[in-house]
Amino acid sequence: MTQRILIKEVQCKTVLHRLQLNGAWEYTANFYRGCTHGCSYCYVPSLIHDERSWGSFVDVKMNAPQVLNKELFKVDKNVVFLSSATDPYQSVEARYKITRKCLEILLSHGFPVLILTRSQLVLRDLDLLKRFEWIRVGFSISTVPSRVYEPGVASLEKRIECLRKISDQGVPTWVSLAPVIPQLMLVDLEQLMKTLCDAGVRCVVPGLLRMMNYDESRKMFERVVAAPYTGFLKGGVELMRKVDGMIERNGLEPPRNFFKWTHIQEAGLDKFLYTSSNKMIEKEEWVHHTTELGYRGVQETTSLIHQ
Ligand code: SF4
Repeated sequence: MTQRILIKEVQCKTVLHRLQLNGAWEYTANFYRGCTHGCSYCYVPSLIHDERSWGSFVDVKMNAPQVLNKELFKVDKNVVFLSSATDPYQSVEARYKITRKCLEILLSHGFPVLILTRSQLVLRDLDLLKRFEWIRVGFSISTVPSRVYEPGVASLEKRIECLRKISDQGVPTWVSLAPVIPQLMLVDLEQLMKTLCDAGVRCVVPGLLRMMNYDESRKMFERVVAAPYTGFLKGGVELMRKVDGMIERNGLEPPRNFFKWTHIQEAGLDKFLYTSSNKMIEKEEWVHHTTELGYRGVQETTSLIHQ
């Protein structure tokens, strides 16, 4: 399938944004604006209010590595989350290598890194990931891993294969099991949980679909499913309870341990960000409202990406 994507090369003023929740904090960094994965349930369009169609554009922050390098000299060391409002390994990264360059800089400054992606391109950087003293590499898996709902995303099998390869190299891996859509289940969650454990995944963080106050996202999702989204949430509370049980039965690590970075432990702040599925949602909302502050477009190019 060929999809026309508008790629815009831009300059940014800032890269790191501080996120604070439950007494703990970390940084988020988004090197791209927009995401060619174009997931139908994505929160981001409701937060950046871009008139371009979601999934059809990406702005590349060309100077992000230089800006990040300067910022890291000035800020306190803490976990840097890649990324909160885009996928750091979407297809344009193969061409621009902004995420790779920024990882090299984070490594040289000795910063801990938390990654979340849906793309197998992350394997390209395994050589770097292995060299971090503290790193957590995660994949997002929803209950609808299909091109209908996630047009640009790698298949579920490919994502699991990537998790296995990364785990095999000794890099701690995790899964954001989100969104869980109770009435749209294309996966067997019991089986998925076992497969993830077998692939070496150490932590799974579930999150229920939530569209409240995300009008643009809700409309986008309802266009795809052709029905009000609320109907798909029936049985959500019971299902999330079951998912928590599966996580426990499979011996996965509690998020508060898995995501704890040494310096946070030393400071006695043992409530890290991922304390429950609901907390994860709150975190996402907060992140999305605080990113993209330094965005400034200066240059524009158009090209075709074959997916
Ligand atoms: S990969 Fe993440 S940021 Fe990109 S479209 Fe999907 S949900 Fe949105």
